[in-house]
Amino acid sequence: MNTKTQLDDAALRYHSEGRPGKIGIVPTKPYHTQYDLSLAYSPGVAAPSLAIAEEPDDVYKYTGKGNLVAVISNGTAVLGLGNIGPLAAKPVMEGKSMLFKTYAGIDAFDIEVDTTDPEEFIRTVKAIAPTFGGINLEDIKAPECFEIETRLREELDIPLMHDDQHGTAIISSAALLNGAKIAGKELDKMRVVVNGAGAAAIACARLFVELGIRRENMVLCDSHGAVTVYREDINPMKREFATTRRITTLAEALHDADVFLGVSKADTLTPEMLRTMSGNPIVMALANPDPEIAYDTAMLSRPDIIFATGRSDYPNQVNNVLGFPYIFRGALDVRATKINEEMKLAAAHALAELTRQPVPTMVLRAYGVEKLEFGRTYLIPKPLDPRLLCTVAPAVAKAAVESGVAKQPIADWDTYAESLRK
Ligand code: NAP
Ligand code: MG
Repeated sequence: MNTKTQLDDAALRYHSEGRPGKIGIVPTKPYHTQYDLSLAYSPGVAAPSLAIAEEPDDVYKYTGKGNLVAVISNGTAVLGLGNIGPLAAKPVMEGKSMLFKTYAGIDAFDIEVDTTDPEEFIRTVKAIAPTFGGINLEDIKAPECFEIETRLREELDIPLMHDDQHGTAIISSAALLNGAKIAGKELDKMRVVVNGAGAAAIACARLFVELGIRRENMVLCDSHGAVTVYREDINPMKREFATTRRITTLAEALHDADVFLGVSKADTLTPEMLRTMSGNPIVMALANPDPEIAYDTAMLSRPDIIFATGRSDYPNQVNNVLGFPYIFRGALDVRATKINEEMKLAAAHALAELTRQPVPTMVLRAYGVEKLEFGRTYLIPKPLDPRLLCTVAPAVAKAAVESGVAKQPIADWDTYAESLRK
């Protein structure tokens, strides 16, 4: 029996043993006496209902809305598994809901929607939005995911984010910021190649520009090669980054580039291409489960590489769990109406800065290592670092307040950060 099969077996047991699935619902108020019940449900419950009918914002005072996120998918782009449909996506969405709870204390419902029609999907999400304080769109395929997210962001007044786009963009931006520091390079002079032009790639490219990478220093490649203004087969999102350079291949694009971001397919980057990049190249090979270039091959290609993958078994895992629990925590806590660019940038900077702080012993213990120090093999924080919550959430909340999208600004930030530590 190989390792993969053993892990598969263990995962099937994990999900099926005891109560099937991974999450449940727990009451938060007393319910043992007749009196408790008369408060929890009829007749007492009429009082909060009437209060909310009169003052809609009271829903945050009398219900769990403010701490409840929907993890919504139609199952069209699930992990690396592709379009496996809404039912088969359920374990993944339950898993994400579990991470919301365990990392940031946020209650999350997984919601699987049986439609591939963007209009019907948008209508469905809008119709159920009153239930939730925030919405995490998940595993919806490109290019529909762009239209779906843009429309819902405009039409709803609660924080909403397609994590496969923006979570990835935020974490890879943190790695880029720190990689640039280690390489001793300035963002506005760096040349960046993004391999892949789908959901994650477009969001990463957009956030890189917000960070300070110049659009003209960026080249996007898709399955047909370099995305140029001369091509006629590209959608508007790809056109946003189309280069005027007369190149056609990834290999040409990579000559003298400072950064490779792979959000594409396994084995698309070769050691030969890597060796044509500039000194101390930052290479993020995020295709999952198998990266654009295997870890060992990349490390052997050149000694000055700064390398990250999407995998947990190598250093520098660009793991979205470093972002979404804390981004939503911060957004919910100030009742943000959006997750905007300012909040995303704040999260990326907070993650990058946290990595440069000394690492507490409990984190070292959690990973069974002697030391973790900012550098080539420690570019971004580790997921089990408890400082993430009280660092990233306040940074996001502050950015929401400062950018004017917070309906309930926080006055005392120290008390807020302290409350997160408990
Ligand atoms: P997607 O929307 O399906 O986009 C995939 C993109 O890859 C498409 O633009 C496609 O080109 C391009 N592509 C396919 N084969 C290629 C090739 N040989 N050379 C260059 N580009 C190629 O998928 P996604 O959600 O963005 O995810 C892409 C990959 O990144 C997946 O492996 C995913 O697991 C990984 N990912 C990792 C993380 C993480 O580690 N945190 C986060 C997000 C995504 P066309 O447009 O021509 O079809
Ligand atoms: Mg996902």
